[in-house]
Amino acid sequence: MVVVMAPEATQADVDTIVDLVQTAGGEAFVSRGVARTIIGLVGDVDQFGTLNLRSRAGVGDVVRISVPYKLVSREHHPSRSVITVGGVPIGPDTVTVIAGPCTVETPEQTLASALMAKAAGASMLRGGAFKPRTSPYAFQGLGEAGLRILAEVRAETGLPVVTEVIDPASVDLVCSYADMLQVGTRSMQNFTLLQAVGSAGKPVLLKRGMNATIEEWLMAAEYIAQRGNLDIVLCERGIRTFETATRNTLDISAVPVAQRLSHLPVIVDPSHSGGRRDLVVPLSRAAIAVGADGIIVDVHPEPAAALCDGDQALVDADIRELAAVMATMPQLMGRTLSRATDPLTVG
Ligand code: PEP
Ligand code: MN
Repeated sequence: MVVVMAPEATQADVDTIVDLVQTAGGEAFVSRGVARTIIGLVGDVDQFGTLNLRSRAGVGDVVRISVPYKLVSREHHPSRSVITVGGVPIGPDTVTVIAGPCTVETPEQTLASALMAKAAGASMLRGGAFKPRTSPYAFQGLGEAGLRILAEVRAETGLPVVTEVIDPASVDLVCSYADMLQVGTRSMQNFTLLQAVGSAGKPVLLKRGMNATIEEWLMAAEYIAQRGNLDIVLCERGIRTFETATRNTLDISAVPVAQRLSHLPVIVDPSHSGGRRDLVVPLSRAAIAVGADGIIVDVHPEPAAALCDGDQALVDADIRELAAVMATMPQLMGRTLSRATDPLTVG
């Protein structure tokens, strides 16, 4: 951390900062230039944060040099992590495809979606039972009945399940059915939810808030990690911009940026970012080409009748196209298509 003194700062102002830092257990190195004095601080940055340095007399600016997150940073853990969900690896050597319906509607629709997912190369099933909808009048999900359907379809197909949890009170319930907990874009800064999933003992898929910076996203991951859970996968799902041609703007550069800052795997949601079926395969290609560790895709056997997000759900013809991408692109990136190393027993 560096304290940049204002041009009018006095020697007494500088001495005050040095005393405060030393009293807090740190070291302060004063460097006098012609116009300004700067003070380099060495020690516990969080401790310095409690000193309110910015508001002290004579201080012009305080610049943080190290990143504000620790556990999820590559400074803390230089090599990239592999997170395993129900035997399926997500990490730097593989491309993991997660696919399924936006929302669970019926056992038949969920099973049909899971079979489409498998045909596209997926090794995990997605599906919402608790849906965080913009409108209170829109379908809110089947709740526990939806979780039960997901567990049945897992037993039939062997695909581990990721599903969203929207409030701390239902974390235990969702954990009793799911292999991975999803925190959605609208919940990324629900800090009590982040703490609850951090204590739940299950891998977490953390979607980027649609209005969140990459740093805010990584700070959200830090909340989960701080509770002892480092099994976190980050998901770029598009952000709000001025553009209206797509539902959100896929921030493709967020993938390598987040991978450089954090050791956690980063996957892409081409469905919720584009919001349009015709963009899902092109955005999936872009995701793999930029180095994403996987994708999460909406599919539906009958999108016209879907209760949620039918416009972006892949149908059979697209599944063949996505399967062709998955048969070739992972190798081009020096990866393999992710498969369960220890598949779930299919009942
Ligand atoms: C979803 O994946 O079902 C979902 C609601 O996504 P997001 O939180 O990214 O909108
Ligand atoms: Mn959706």
